[in-house]
Amino acid sequence: MSQPEPAEPPVDDASAPAAEPGAANRPVYDRGDTVCVVGAGASGLAAVKNLREHGFDVDCYERETGIGGAWNWRHDRSPVYASTHLISSRPLTQYPDFPMPDSWPDYPHHSQLLSYLERYADHFGLRQHIWFGTEVVRAVPVDGGRWEVTTRSTGGYGPERTQRYAAVVVANGHNWAPKQPTYEGLEDFRGTVIHASAYKDPAQLRGKRVLVVGAGNTGCDLAVEAAQSATACWHSTRRGYWYAPKYVFGRPADQVNDAVLALRLPLRARQWLFHRTLRLTVGDLTRFGLPAPDHRVYETHPIANSQLVYHVGHGRITPVGDVVRFHRDGVELPGGVEIEPDLVIFATGYLPRFEFLAPDVLELDAAGRPSLYLNAFPRHHPTLAVAGLLQPDSGLFTLVHWQTVAIARVLRLRETAPQRAAAFRTRVVAGADQRWNRAKLKESTRHWFEVSHTDYLRAVQRTLDELELAPR
Ligand SMILES: Cc1cc2nc3c(=O)[nH]c(=O)nc-3n(C[C@H](O)[C@H](O)[C@H](O)COP(=O)(O)OP(=O)(O)OC[C@H]3O[C@@H](n4cnc5c(N)ncnc54)[C@H](O)[C@@H]3O)c2cc1C
Repeated sequence: MSQPEPAEPPVDDASAPAAEPGAANRPVYDRGDTVCVVGAGASGLAAVKNLREHGFDVDCYERETGIGGAWNWRHDRSPVYASTHLISSRPLTQYPDFPMPDSWPDYPHHSQLLSYLERYADHFGLRQHIWFGTEVVRAVPVDGGRWEVTTRSTGGYGPERTQRYAAVVVANGHNWAPKQPTYEGLEDFRGTVIHASAYKDPAQLRGKRVLVVGAGNTGCDLAVEAAQSATACWHSTRRGYWYAPKYVFGRPADQVNDAVLALRLPLRARQWLFHRTLRLTVGDLTRFGLPAPDHRVYETHPIANSQLVYHVGHGRITPVGDVVRFHRDGVELPGGVEIEPDLVIFATGYLPRFEFLAPDVLELDAAGRPSLYLNAFPRHHPTLAVAGLLQPDSGLFTLVHWQTVAIARVLRLRETAPQRAAAFRTRVVAGADQRWNRAKLKESTRHWFEVSHTDYLRAVQRTLDELELAPR
């Protein structure tokens, strides 16, 4: 990596995250045409690779000491637990230019995912572009569409350092800042309360009466874990859901769904087919004491879990409604029912956080939701992009690969064909906040980034066709 040249001190920006005292007198190192990538998880790695393949120099900053992001469970913010396996199946998860080994199972373990990402980084020579143990604390837009990026050692040791970049790609993940629910009386409750992000191992459940709150994939996984390790398990959900098995007709369920999507049937016909399939494979869930769903399939993020219904059927999980309030010694459920769990686990999801950017940069609304075209391009900053801010009905890596190809192409086009880059900008401004899903999704932070993978990939394909690279 070439040694950066110091330039003039940074431009002051009142809306940017607060600077360290004395920072104004420090030099700013100009990195020329280099692009800065924030994060070396699955999205950041794809960004580094695709930017390099488009001829860019890249500096990637990673706050942890290794790659892999969420899939590296040694990382202090990793949300995975000992038993985490993929929810999406292998072929629908992998990067299109780097398949997972054929010998791997349909749903690999998280340790295999980490080893896959490590092989990806080694195969494409990505590590030499990553600064580990370094967190981005501020990224501020300055004149000419450039960015001043301030970094420091993770944990705040040592001085800050500011460098100027041609563009920034944010790939900081959206599954690490816990969404904490509030309930009356929670602060007085004497039992232990944790968020799912703090759950790592069944040892935490042994000998305990456990209440798991939340019916996402993690909530269902943890209820199943508690069914096998805890003394008792209640699973609290706000509504009824469609619990799809991981296998349908002997195939991974997402692959069967993908085959149906390929038929390009109208949404209503697909919903009918899905309902029929669930009736045939799982049956009527209300027989097990689970509430009937109040919505059609595809209107909430798909839950794939073959074991939940099994353990409900064996009496190891008791499904209950939404928590009414907490008391000192217990929890009140609908109908005045009282339970006395020792441990409550909130599997209530995560919220995106961009603490190194001023809120107006991504036009965050009051709840913190950004406004982006293709979930990637902000309206007012042509040299900024976000990678991986997607919650697909399949695996992420395929989508993030094509998304970061599009990001690299857009940045390259600014030099090679500025008029076409400007035409793309017009679409970004007009199309921010567009949703890539035909179903009417339930209003929830859980669905902020929900995309149908086929709809999203078609939209990215159209963008890539429009951006077809002009000769350099
Ligand atoms: C329990 C669970 C199961 C899942 N199952 C699946 C599945 O089956 N299939 C699937 O495709 N996805 C699944 N996911 C989603 C998973 O998050 C993605 O697969 C993937 O890890 C997202 O990668 P990312 O790079 O966008 O984010 P992350 O993996 O979170 O990586 C972000 C990286 O950015 C770094 N970072 C953040 N802020 C800064 C900063 N300021 N400075 C420097 N570095 C920073 C972080 O340290 C981290 O390494 C699952 C998630 C969970 C929680």
